[in-house]
Amino acid sequence: MGYVRGLKCRECARPYPAKALHVCEFCFGPLEVDYDYAAIGRAVDHRSIEAGPPNIWRYRALLPVDGEPTVGRHCGFTPLVRARNLGKALGLSQLYVKNDTVNHPTLSFKDRVVAVAVIKAQEFGFPVVACASTGNLANSVAAHAAEGGLTSFVFIPADLEQGKVVGTSIYAPNVVAVDGTYDEVNRLCSEVADKYGWAFVNINIRPYYAEGSKTFGYEIAEQLGWRAPDHIVVPAAGGSLITKVWKGLKEFYNLGLLPAVPTHMHVAQAAGCGPIVNSVKAGSEIIRPVKQPRTIAKSLAIGNPADGYYAFKVVKDSGGGGEHATDEEIVEAMKLLAATEGIFAETAGGVTVAATKKLVEHGAIGRDEVTVISVTGNGLKTQEAVAGALRVPAHIKPTLASFDAALAQHLPSGAGKGLTAGC
Ligand SMILES: *Cc1c(COP(=O)(O)O)cnc(C)c1O
Ligand SMILES: [Zn+2]
Repeated sequence: MGYVRGLKCRECARPYPAKALHVCEFCFGPLEVDYDYAAIGRAVDHRSIEAGPPNIWRYRALLPVDGEPTVGRHCGFTPLVRARNLGKALGLSQLYVKNDTVNHPTLSFKDRVVAVAVIKAQEFGFPVVACASTGNLANSVAAHAAEGGLTSFVFIPADLEQGKVVGTSIYAPNVVAVDGTYDEVNRLCSEVADKYGWAFVNINIRPYYAEGSKTFGYEIAEQLGWRAPDHIVVPAAGGSLITKVWKGLKEFYNLGLLPAVPTHMHVAQAAGCGPIVNSVKAGSEIIRPVKQPRTIAKSLAIGNPADGYYAFKVVKDSGGGGEHATDEEIVEAMKLLAATEGIFAETAGGVTVAATKKLVEHGAIGRDEVTVISVTGNGLKTQEAVAGALRVPAHIKPTLASFDAALAQHLPSGAGKGLTAGC
């Protein structure tokens, strides 16, 4: 049914069958899904895509699933917001926010990758679907496994935000909290995958999982009127999303769906865990792992990013840049995005907005260039990050006098003006 030719090594280009494989036996390079692009080109055009459903499956010809989607049927096609207010604050005249805070069903971009991965796990006949997660992946794997009636195991670092833990446990998966960093969790999961033969969405079926991220880039291009922007700023953890957004834009160009891809890809990470940005700033393709990540952006806290090298390459090849954000800058940027656009993003969104601000200040992004900020997760899941940094409610008695006193003392004076006008 699909257009998948098989898997292919990203390093030596050796072909492999479309099975649950992820590493090249010869050079240990990562495997990637390979398609019959000539056939896709004959089957797909702007109109056929626009006639598709308002979710990621409108791009199904470019996703590695065989049959009809069985889970994640409402994922994707999230708003591309014309962000005039935030643009004014950052000094950008043509700014957009790609808003995956409202992605279905678990409010982060991870639903895009998990929808594809869980369907593949089902197609391959795995008894258990599992993941090593920094939080959002856990939410999404648990939800999609529940929807698909699959048993799931979710491995997380023990110090995750409560919103991420509750937002996983509600689906009743088997949650394993590990005393260690994400990288230690991930190493353990590779051993569990080998020993028990489970489908770890981001480990042994990673080539299929990663393809879901392309839809983030496809949607940006389609929603801009079949045009690639001048800049996309992408937060990175393992470095897969930025790599695949780029792959998606290139595919669209090669299929004749875009006239050009002038896009500069920029990477955003936290100062306390920014191995990819460190490499970009140093101009070195060697990614130095961060042993002890220290950041409130826990969803991005991967010290040894699996796709770090490829993310670095995408930034270099596209003429992009990279910036870090400190915890303080993350909180300020979360508040700025909310106050200007009415979008409550998680810490990763704060990282990306803060990084964009610096890229503009340093001249890496021109003031009148079309720029897209990737906002990848919802702020209700990381409330600890900002709870102490917000104005507290005015606390009053249930009387008008008490409200009048509060208005005079604590609330913005402008709010009182409308009152007298009605008298
Ligand atoms: C996982 C995650 C990312 C980064 O994903 P990678 O593909 O691992 O780089 C970005 N934002 C959020 C909110 C995430 O959960
Ligand atoms: Zn190889």
